[in-house]
Amino acid sequence: MTPLELARQTLMQLSKNQTPPTPDNYRLVYNEIAGLEAEDKGTALSKALDKVLHDVGKDKPKYLVAAEKISTLVKKRDSTNLESQIRSLLAISDVDSVNWSTLLRYLLKQLDLNHNGITLSRKKEGLSRVLINFAHDPNQLGQKIQALATSWGDGQTGMIANESIEPVSAEVAAHAFNEVAHEKSVQPMVGEVQLKMALAWRDALIRTISLAVLPQFADTPAALSRIEGLIVRAQQSTTLEDVSNVSESLKSTLLRAEMQADSQHRMQEALMRMMRLLISSMGELTFEDKWLNGQIAIVHEIMSKPLNLDSVYSAEYSLKELIFKQSSLKPGLIAAKETLKGMMSAFISGLADIAESTDNYKTKIAEYQKQIFETEDITKLNDIMKSLAGDIHSMNADARHSQSAFLETQKKVEEAEMRINELTSKLDYISEVAHEDFLTGALNRRGMNEAIEREFERADRHSTAISLAMIDIDHFKKINDTMGHSTGDEALTHLAKVVKGILRSTDVLARYGGEEFVILLPGSKQEDAINVITGVQRELTKNFFMHNSERVLITFSAGVSERIAGEAFDAVLPRADAALYQAKHAGRNRVVGAAIPQLS
Ligand code: GH3
Ligand code: MG
Ligand code: MG
Repeated sequence: MTPLELARQTLMQLSKNQTPPTPDNYRLVYNEIAGLEAEDKGTALSKALDKVLHDVGKDKPKYLVAAEKISTLVKKRDSTNLESQIRSLLAISDVDSVNWSTLLRYLLKQLDLNHNGITLSRKKEGLSRVLINFAHDPNQLGQKIQALATSWGDGQTGMIANESIEPVSAEVAAHAFNEVAHEKSVQPMVGEVQLKMALAWRDALIRTISLAVLPQFADTPAALSRIEGLIVRAQQSTTLEDVSNVSESLKSTLLRAEMQADSQHRMQEALMRMMRLLISSMGELTFEDKWLNGQIAIVHEIMSKPLNLDSVYSAEYSLKELIFKQSSLKPGLIAAKETLKGMMSAFISGLADIAESTDNYKTKIAEYQKQIFETEDITKLNDIMKSLAGDIHSMNADARHSQSAFLETQKKVEEAEMRINELTSKLDYISEVAHEDFLTGALNRRGMNEAIEREFERADRHSTAISLAMIDIDHFKKINDTMGHSTGDEALTHLAKVVKGILRSTDVLARYGGEEFVILLPGSKQEDAINVITGVQRELTKNFFMHNSERVLITFSAGVSERIAGEAFDAVLPRADAALYQAKHAGRNRVVGAAIPQLS
C-alpha cells in the first residue's frame, strides 16, 4: 500500500469508528493498518495496567471487572471514559487503604492500657488469631486489628475473631478510632480517649435501654423504676469512674430484671396449671367439703408465702397426688351412698302405703322422701332416719307390723354409714400421711424423713456405714423449655425408674424437691456409694429417655457424703449439697465425694 493509500484508509477507519481525528488517534490507526502496531508508550502502559489488575484481581474480583472495562475502553480509544475509569479505580483502593501508622499507634496504646479483665496475653492471643485469619488481605487485616483493639475497651475479646461486629459497637469503635486518627498534631491523652469512648457507649446504651428494654418491663413496676433510676444516673455520669460504676450496676440490674421476667412468666404458667387442676377436680369433689378443703389448703399455704417456683411445682404435685388418691377411692364411696339412698327411698314408699289412713303422716313421709333425695350429706341421712322413727312410733296400729322391717333397714343404713365413714377417714388419712411422691413413685419428704430416722438409727445400732447422695438433673430448665413441662415430668419419672433399677432393695430413693433427689445407701462407705451413683449415670447413657421417638440424654450431677456415726441428717446433707455444687461447677454430669470433716 502506498503512503497515500495508507493515509486514505486511516481516515476512512477513523470515521467508521467515529474516533476523533486527533494526531494520536491518526498515528495509532495508521500504524495498525500499516502493520506497524508499534509497542509505543500507550500500548506498553495499557498492557502493564492490564497485567497488574489481573494479578490483583485473583484475590479481589472487583479489579478483574475494572481490567475488563479498561481494556474495552483502550480498544475503543475512548480516552474520556478511560480517564474516569482509572480515577474510580484509584478511589476503590483508597477506600480500603489503611493508615498503618495511625493504626499501629492506636494498637500499641490499647495493648498498654489496663482493660478490665483482659490480660496482655489474652490480647496477644486475639491479635495473633486476627493476623493468621486475615494475613492474605492487608486492608481487611487493618480493619480487623482496629476493631479488635477497640473491643478490648468493651470487654468483648472473642468478637472480632468470629467476625461478628454488632452495629452499635462497630459504629462506636470507628468513632473512637477516628478520634485518635484525627488528633494528628496533639498526642491524645489515653484517659481522654477512654472517656470519649465510654461516653459514646453510655449514650448508645441509654438509647438502647430506653427504646428496647424498658417497654418490656411495663408490667413490673419494681424493675421499671430500678432501670429508670439507673438511666438517670447514667445520664448524669461524666467521669470515667461514674460511667464504669453505672455500667456495673446496669449489668446486674438488667440481669436481675431479665431473670425476674423469666421466672414470673414460669410462675404464672405454673399457677395457671394449678388453678386449672383445682377447678377441674372441684366439680367432682364438691359433695364432700372436707376433701376440697384439703386441696384448697395446699394452694392456700403456697399463696401465703412469698412465691417461689420450686414450691409452686411441689404444691402442684401434692395436689395431683391428693386428687389421684381421692379419685381412686371415690367410686366406692359414691356407690355406697347411692345404695343407701335407694334403700331408704324404697322403705319409705312402703311406709306411705301403710300410713294411707292418716293424711297427716302421708304429708310427713313425702317430706322425708324429698329430704332424702335432696341431701348430699351422708351424716344427715341418719338424722332423717331418727326423726322418721319417732314419727312411726306414734303411728296407728296398722303400721306396727312394719316396725321390724324398719329396724332392719335402719341397721343397714347404719352399716352403710359405717362403711362410708371408714372410706372417708381413709381418704383423710391418705391426704395427710401420703409417703410417696405421686409422679415418680419415690418417697416424698415425709417418707424420706421417716426412712432417714429409721436407717440412721439402725446404722448407729449396728455400727455400720451409711452414705447419702444428693442428685440434681443438669439443665432441667432447658428440657422444660424446649420440650414442655409435661415432658419434663416424664423425664423425672424415667430417671426415678432407672435409679430404682440400679439401687439395692435396702437403698432408699426420695424426691427432695422439684428435680432433686436424695438417695440413702445403708451399709455403703463413701467410695462404694460413689460407685453406685456412677453406675446410675452409666445406665442413663444406655437407657435413654424417649421423646417423640427421639433419644434424649438426661444427665445429673451428684454429691455423695458418708455419714459420721451419730450425725444428724442436717449435718450430712450440707456436705452432700456442697459436693453437688462442686460437681455442677466442674462442668456437670459427674459425681463428687464430699470432703470428710476433720474430727477434733
Ligand atoms: P442445673 O444444671 O444448674 O441444675 O440447671 P437446671 O436448669 O436444672 O437448674 P435448676 O436445678 O436450678 O432448676 C430446676 C428447674 O426444674 C426449675 C423448674 O423449672 C424445674 N422443675 C422443678 N420441679 C419440676 C417438676 O416437678 N416438673 C417439671 N417439669 N419441672 C420442674
Ligand atoms: Mg435444682
Ligand atoms: Mg438442675
